[in-house]
Amino acid sequence: MSKSQYQAPKGTRDIMAPETNRVSALLRLFEETLNSGGYNQIISPIFEDIGVFQRLGHSSEIVTKEMFDLFDKDPKNPQHLVLRPELTASICRAFAQHRPVTPWKVWYEGPQFRYEKPQAGRYRQFLQVGAELLGSPDPHADVEIISMASRFFQKTGLANTKLLLNSLGDTETRGNYNDALTNYLNLNQVNLSEQSQETMLKNPLRVLDSKREKDQEIIQNAPFITDFLNDDSNKHFQIVQEGLSLLGIDYDLAPRLVRGLDYYTKTTFEFVAPNLDTAQNAVGGGGRYDGLVEALGGPPTEGIGFAIGIDRTLLACEAENVSQSVDNIEIFIVDTTGGGEALVLSDELRQIGLSVDRSFDQRSMKAQMKAADRSGAQLAIIIGTDELNENQVTLRDLRGDGIQTVLDRQSLAKILPEMLQETTK
Ligand code: ATP
Ligand code: MG
Repeated sequence: MSKSQYQAPKGTRDIMAPETNRVSALLRLFEETLNSGGYNQIISPIFEDIGVFQRLGHSSEIVTKEMFDLFDKDPKNPQHLVLRPELTASICRAFAQHRPVTPWKVWYEGPQFRYEKPQAGRYRQFLQVGAELLGSPDPHADVEIISMASRFFQKTGLANTKLLLNSLGDTETRGNYNDALTNYLNLNQVNLSEQSQETMLKNPLRVLDSKREKDQEIIQNAPFITDFLNDDSNKHFQIVQEGLSLLGIDYDLAPRLVRGLDYYTKTTFEFVAPNLDTAQNAVGGGGRYDGLVEALGGPPTEGIGFAIGIDRTLLACEAENVSQSVDNIEIFIVDTTGGGEALVLSDELRQIGLSVDRSFDQRSMKAQMKAADRSGAQLAIIIGTDELNENQVTLRDLRGDGIQTVLDRQSLAKILPEMLQETTK
């Protein structure tokens, strides 16, 4: 096949059936899970003022390197916009703008955009689902948020995803730890990668997030932030851990876990799929960000949330061999009388809730039967000249041993739903 003139842009991909069916199945599971927790969906703009994301902090790569820029054409208001790289900042912006009643519990799904070096499981446009709980400092809010993500992974059938848990403490804790970490990194500066030497000057904590080989040994021996937690932060962290244990949610303490963004405080967590490549094995993550709403011009408001990468969750499902049930078509109509019967009958059956497909272009019986087999339908309804004259149809079981029965056309709407239930049992 010769290459077509246009390809999907670098780092993007067309998701098509059957993968789209798996994506929809995951989105449905997510929606179900979050609705069961009293979270409502929020749909916010795909682009925002660049300032919304700049509040995330200047040492985060999302802000410094990964944003796609857009410029408003209005010469009087030449606003600098960006395609959203994540949704927590947009949601805090929406909170500051609308001041809803707290606790405000929302979930979202949609594409995010980051100018990254594309690799398997790392794209420039990718799909995320996530949730945020704003306006509560209660450690049980942390537990609920983590349980939502964890129950979602459980429902997908993934058995190996691991929850990594850490606490970054409050401002006081962070200050004390930053001093200790800076001292440590200064002593080891010559052995750090060039990028980490730079990051160190902006935000030493972010050095711990480096995935570069050269930095690993130094990160391994760095002081633990959990040794610096003050009483308040420590108590919060203990209650979160007790809560998770009460719910039977397993976790591993991960004292090096700092995650990508600067604004996290206290609880921080990540879900990893051990079957994926280490550079791309994070399927989701989140944490508490008690200062972000205020930084965006809202009232001081605590917040906690998570985001899950759907593309990577699918890769994890493939790696673990778990499959989402895909809804196949139920009935395929084979009409050799010109197609008019297929037109009317497919519409009639779709209206009573059945899923029905058909062929076009008056193709041969053989070609239509082949299409019926390929469709994955359970039953074929065959209408030839004989059936048309007798006001009957022939039903053929496509899954079993190809049993055929002749039925009155009028009885179809009544009999089919029962028959389909029988065959799926
Ligand atoms: P990573 O360390 O892998 O770059 P991150 O810390 O940048 O991840 P978050 O900002 O926490 O990721 O986003 C939450 C989830 O979104 C990630 O755990 C991952 O599953 C997914 N994700 C992030 N970036 C990408 C990407 N470029 N392509 C596909 N999925 C992504
Ligand atoms: Mg990243």
